Amino acid sequence: MKQVGYNPYVAAQTQFDHVANIIDLEPAVRQLLRQPSREVQFTIPVKMDDGTTKVFNGFRIQHNTARGPAKGGIRFHPQETADTVRALSMWMTWKCAVVDIPLGGGKGGVICDPHNLSKGEQERLCRGYVRQIADLIGPVTDVPAPDVMTNGQHMLWMLDEYETITRGHYPGAITGKPVGMGGSLGRTEATGYGVIYSLRESLMGLDIDITKTTASFQGFGNVAEYAARLYTQMGGKVIAISSWDQHDSKSYTFRNKNGLDIEKMVSIKDSFGTINKKKAQEIGCELLKGDEWIAQDVDILLPCALENQITVDSFTKISKTVKVICEGANGPTAPDCDILIKERNIFLVPDFLANAGGVTCSYFEQVQCNNNYFWTKEEVLEKLDSKMTSAFQAVFKLAREKKLYMREAAYIIAINRVADAVKLRGWV
Ligand code: NDP
Repeated sequence: MKQVGYNPYVAAQTQFDHVANIIDLEPAVRQLLRQPSREVQFTIPVKMDDGTTKVFNGFRIQHNTARGPAKGGIRFHPQETADTVRALSMWMTWKCAVVDIPLGGGKGGVICDPHNLSKGEQERLCRGYVRQIADLIGPVTDVPAPDVMTNGQHMLWMLDEYETITRGHYPGAITGKPVGMGGSLGRTEATGYGVIYSLRESLMGLDIDITKTTASFQGFGNVAEYAARLYTQMGGKVIAISSWDQHDSKSYTFRNKNGLDIEKMVSIKDSFGTINKKKAQEIGCELLKGDEWIAQDVDILLPCALENQITVDSFTKISKTVKVICEGANGPTAPDCDILIKERNIFLVPDFLANAGGVTCSYFEQVQCNNNYFWTKEEVLEKLDSKMTSAFQAVFKLAREKKLYMREAAYIIAINRVADAVKLRGWV
């Protein structure tokens, strides 16, 4: 999504170039991997309820498929841009590679605000989107999933359209479907829990007792909510949460220095996902400005909302108490800020490692659909923990051995895996 002066694709390429230089990547591999391999941009005419036709613009971008079918969500957002989708498709390639699942990277988007569309209009938009890309997607080519402002219902309409066109049942063609309709148990929790599995491993590696730590979150959506729940279950204390208020279009930070009651905070979110300010104060929250989440005297910062939040400017507000930044969101840190994080010796868990739980569970969903046999939630979460833990440990070990920043170590593992696949296939 667009933010003035910030281009996520430039950020993704800057990070890639930095690591390509460290590992001295061959020029042809570098050229291939620093951009998407295939991009489609198209129009989607939708019959509106009032009888008019509205034309929406959509994208599907595949960054790389050397390790398996492209994998990545579809965003519905009024400020969606081709460059955001490009960046996210690239980050998906590294995410799948770092957790070592046999998938590549892709992403999709439609410029729209689903809040302003009726259910019927949303269904027609989803079906129209699939009609434009039906020949590109599929269980063995490119597997979409939900992302910002899309959900299981959208995925099921898309799958139904795909299966109508292809005249078969291909539940592995789209993930994030509702449970009972090919979806996996544990998918709702997966990203947030994955963030905390990697945080738990970081703290163990740093010899910090999680039960003595405090944290501040940006966001209280799917990722942050489940991350906050698991973190508090493990004994940590959430001091602050910053969230967007849909009613007055501003963000607020909710703070309780004795620790927020996460279940109560969840119970006072309205149907828009906005935390009720009055009820929050009744349960002991102080109300601060939205960007105050970053300035709290805590051990851990968890940006779990938007890209480009930790910038050279906002970094100056980070308290000296902060020991770990665990990136739940995609791209929350501006590339020129990494150097500052390194200098301050703050331990960083990079986004595409920390938030890989979602795509890992999507992969589990595909496996279950292909076998037509579904696992219990406990089985899913146990496999998720094991996958996230081994991915984290591999990155942590490399970072320790070679004295690397965690983002660099994660990128080195991911890029090398993809580069090997590209070379083994004889593409370069
Ligand atoms: P949601 O839309 O569920 O949550 C986003 C949260 O951020 C909401 O609480 C939103 O408030 C809040 N928010 C928006 N703007 C601001 C702001 N300016 N200040 C403070 N809070 C704000 O998204 P997800 O939790 O699914 O995703 C969050 C991030 O994680 C994104 O970067 C996404 O790409 C990434 N991610 C998500 C995955 C998933 O499986 N869900 C997988 C991997 C990455 P409100 O609800 O009021 O709008």
